[in-house]
Amino acid sequence: MRPTGQLHLGHLVGALENWVALQDEFQNYHLIADYHALTTDPDSRSLEANSFEMVVDWLAAGIDPARSPMFRQSQVKQHSELHLIFSMLITTARLERNPSLKEQVRDLELETVAYGHLGYPVLQAADILLYRGEVVPVGEDQLPHIEITRELARRFNAQYGEVFPAPEGRVTKFPRLPGLDGKKMSKSLGNSILLSDSAEEIAKKMRTAVTDPQKVRRNDPGRPDVCLVFSYHHKFNPGEVAEIRKGCESGQLGCVDCKLRCAAKIVEATAPIRERRADYASKPDEVRAILREGEARARVVASETMDRVHQVMHLG
Ligand code: SF4
Repeated sequence: MRPTGQLHLGHLVGALENWVALQDEFQNYHLIADYHALTTDPDSRSLEANSFEMVVDWLAAGIDPARSPMFRQSQVKQHSELHLIFSMLITTARLERNPSLKEQVRDLELETVAYGHLGYPVLQAADILLYRGEVVPVGEDQLPHIEITRELARRFNAQYGEVFPAPEGRVTKFPRLPGLDGKKMSKSLGNSILLSDSAEEIAKKMRTAVTDPQKVRRNDPGRPDVCLVFSYHHKFNPGEVAEIRKGCESGQLGCVDCKLRCAAKIVEATAPIRERRADYASKPDEVRAILREGEARARVVASETMDRVHQVMHLG
């Protein structure tokens, strides 16, 4: 995950809950992709603070540092080395076909693409294969990158000798949670509920959520299936979904009440996360030690992999 600072409910639902569950099944590695952040914005001044905030959110969400090392890409030098080797095994034409690159160029209105931006799926392949990763939890839009990783693993193995598995993407089960305005949830768009938000802030933000535009007055019948708030009820209030649907469709439930009920459920569901967050945030030295320990553990595995790479490549 790129270090974007404090995380929001979209991150929790789309990634963190899945990561926490996967800890019981796999040995997990959690990468803070600080070099990746430079592909679209070369300003590095906020990376350290943002990485810290993100680790606090990871810990608060339930990532267990004893089982799952967390580390910054920039602090494990082997990422850069494997990236360089992989970059010789893929053509620029293949990278130019990457659909998410085209989307980013369009969304960010980029006039030119940096060399490192074009090659970021190659760095991502190095991030995964350095730990000989077998499963990568991703959103659906990331599957093309996993395909590039698989191609690179196969090409390296065929050229030099078996070192890497061909990892599989595991798509997160819950569909993406939209922002309060119905667009993609993003802190910069101001449409997100942060994991650090207080109960009051959550209620205040929920009041601004878009609903069914046809339900103008309190007693108008609504269409829950086109309402953003209803999708939040599905996630955070599954036990009352049938009742909410009935109240909405009959016009007996008003949107303000409905939003406040939803806000209360979000507050309830995220209370343990907020509590743990406040605790970790008050102990920055402990968080930094967790990161240092994670980086040391990551370096051990990364260096084993690179020893095997050097061996099969006959590089000393
Ligand atoms: S009552 Fe609830 S589900 Fe129905 S439109 Fe309003 S906010 Fe949406």
